[in-house]
Amino acid sequence: MKTRTAIFPGSFDPITSGHFDIVQRALPLFDKIIIAIGYNAQKKYLLSLEQRLGLLEELFADEAKIETDSYKGLTANYCSQKKVSFILRGLRSSSDFEYEKAIAQLNSSLDQKLETVFLITSPGFSHISSSIVREILSNGGNAAQFLPEAISEQIHEMIRPVNH
Ligand code: ADP
Repeated sequence: MKTRTAIFPGSFDPITSGHFDIVQRALPLFDKIIIAIGYNAQKKYLLSLEQRLGLLEELFADEAKIETDSYKGLTANYCSQKKVSFILRGLRSSSDFEYEKAIAQLNSSLDQKLETVFLITSPGFSHISSSIVREILSNGGNAAQFLPEAISEQIHEMIRPVNH
């Protein structure tokens, strides 16, 4: 039988409980999920690619169905390189919808085999974003409630407050 694989692309700067919830809920739908950090040299990130990959690897070390990776350039090209036709994304709001719709349609126009699968955020996670976590931690706050427990402390150590 064909292996059903999805790529979950994102910046994961850092991975939050919202992302983690999407992955957990997608696991029963796929045989394998590749969580892939899309790297754009033009974009500024708070955590380095190595730090973000390290956090993903640690968080999913015991989950045999999950692989972690990074890629440069177009997600559609990465999917075809990995021979994967499902893209996994999460939706929190109508603004996410507009943004995600444009990307999903672009990807399927680049490669008709590509199908984006969306999971709606769980009610308790809809307000969580990597940018909120970055804002809290850069200002010396505690963002533990927005982060997967296993890596929360590590993330707090990685992001030092700007004025401290
Ligand atoms: P990108 O920079 O590609 O948007 P992100 O790491 O910010 O990458 O997000 C990756 C995916 O996870 C996106 O589809 C985003 O909508 C989704 N996502 C982010 N936070 C949440 C959340 N709290 N609940 C559900 N989905 C989320």
